[in-house]
Amino acid sequence: MSLIRATVDQAPVAISITDLKANILYVNSAFSEITGYAPQECIGRNESMLSDRRTPPEVYRELWGCISRQEVWKGRLLNRHREGRRYLAALTVAPVLNDAGETTHFIGMHRDVTEEYLLQQQVRQQTLFLETVVASIPVSAVLIDENGRIVLANLMYKALAGDLKVEEPALLFLRLLTQESGEEWTDFWHREKAFRNLELRFDPGGGRPSRWFSCAGQWFRHDEGTVDGFFSGSEKGYLLLTVDDVTLQKKQQEQYRLRGLQALMAEEEKLESLKETLFAAIHQVQAPLNLLGAAKNMLDRRGDDPGNVALRELLQQVITAGEASVRTLEKCIPHTDTNGFKPVNLNQVLHDVITLLTERLLASGIVVEWVPTPVLPSLRGSENRLRSLFKQIIENAIDAMAHSRQRELRIHTWTRDQLIHITIEDTGPGIPIELRTQIFEPFFTTKTNSGRQHVGVGLTVAHEIVNQHNGLIRIDPEYNEGCRIHMQFEIRKVQPERRAKVAHG
Ligand code: FAD
Repeated sequence: MSLIRATVDQAPVAISITDLKANILYVNSAFSEITGYAPQECIGRNESMLSDRRTPPEVYRELWGCISRQEVWKGRLLNRHREGRRYLAALTVAPVLNDAGETTHFIGMHRDVTEEYLLQQQVRQQTLFLETVVASIPVSAVLIDENGRIVLANLMYKALAGDLKVEEPALLFLRLLTQESGEEWTDFWHREKAFRNLELRFDPGGGRPSRWFSCAGQWFRHDEGTVDGFFSGSEKGYLLLTVDDVTLQKKQQEQYRLRGLQALMAEEEKLESLKETLFAAIHQVQAPLNLLGAAKNMLDRRGDDPGNVALRELLQQVITAGEASVRTLEKCIPHTDTNGFKPVNLNQVLHDVITLLTERLLASGIVVEWVPTPVLPSLRGSENRLRSLFKQIIENAIDAMAHSRQRELRIHTWTRDQLIHITIEDTGPGIPIELRTQIFEPFFTTKTNSGRQHVGVGLTVAHEIVNQHNGLIRIDPEYNEGCRIHMQFEIRKVQPERRAKVAHG
């Protein structure tokens, strides 16, 4: 018995034993320590001596209700220390029963949990503060954990989700960033590097206009404070991703850019017609040269007839001079510098071309169905040349539909197997099967009276541009309602030297 007494006396929680009216009969040393009352100051007095009027009466009512039913009550209430200061007590009150099952006493155990509570409050305040800060960021902000889970999002982000009709725009943006920044993005993610001003284009489809977003990301580490990390720590990385809708600014820039593009396209067109003319000139020289070559071969086969020698020499001179002219003309063909290739988004290029040709399309009564894939990775190429390519194909389609009753131009982009696919189809007369292989050869044209000067090298140039971009172009044999040109290009890969630069940077 003395062991039990000693244990209770020395227990590190405040213990008191009362009669049925809560009059104190016994207190241990921890009780005196926590409340400030020595045993002689509290024995005989009521537990209510500790009460602070800030504790609502319902709490006491509940306490008494509980212990009256012989149940254990646990709760927190405000106690007043002997010196007048308040502390938060985590109190357990239990009835003590006799052999007949009647309550004879109550035992109260309490701890001062003021510090614990203040810490909890601090954490809550910090969380609230963080939430308020995130909420008040004037752009869409979302907190993503290292496993890609969204843990916090502000109102603007939620509004954006509704606006874009995408469940979690952050996941979409992460996907776009991965596609656009490739290995660099892996570096951002795995090395927790900050980034900003990463611009993304999103094409929602369904006739809705393109949207532009500027993304910034800041990493930070936070200790989760879970029991799992009690010994090893439970720090986790978080990415605060902010996404600013810059569509309006982009639209303004876009207008300036389109004006510039118009001028550039005019230049390009001049260059293309110069190319066409040069191709035509080479062809014009090459054809008779081939005939002369054949004639000389015939003379060569006839042997050393002295009458032929002079003629053969003359022919050789003409052929040599002709070949020199062809070489000179070939040198004059403006070549594309593939070193100047940079990432190009074909949705953007096609969109530009459609915008630039809007007037012509409207004047020709053509309905355009533009279905870009919402997320299109870029390829490495020349934006100008690719613009010329699509312009050429779309202008061909416009010409082809000049006499059609139904005039529809459908432009689709999508990706499959690391390739970007583009189809441009019209509802014109189409290209007969027997001509489909010739269509990309120089000087072939199905146009009889297009009103434009045309020598039939447009698709040759188109073919050349596709080749320069390691792509493929063909007439879709499955399509019979007009002409469908199908092109495919490789998705851009991040250069190894760039990877190395980022890794050491
Ligand atoms: P009331 O809640 O009305 O209490 C006044 C007094 O009336 C009570 O102390 C009690 O003597 C009596 N009383 C009230 N209801 C009943 C009932 N249903 N049956 C029998 N008698 C009743 N309160 C604290 O503020 N701090 C403590 O640390 C604390 N420890 C306690 C430990 C034990 C073991 C017990 C049994 C009670 C404890 N109480 C404690 C509750 C305390 O007894 C009072 O109820 C409380 O302090 C509120 O007092 P009050 O004067 O504001 O009003």
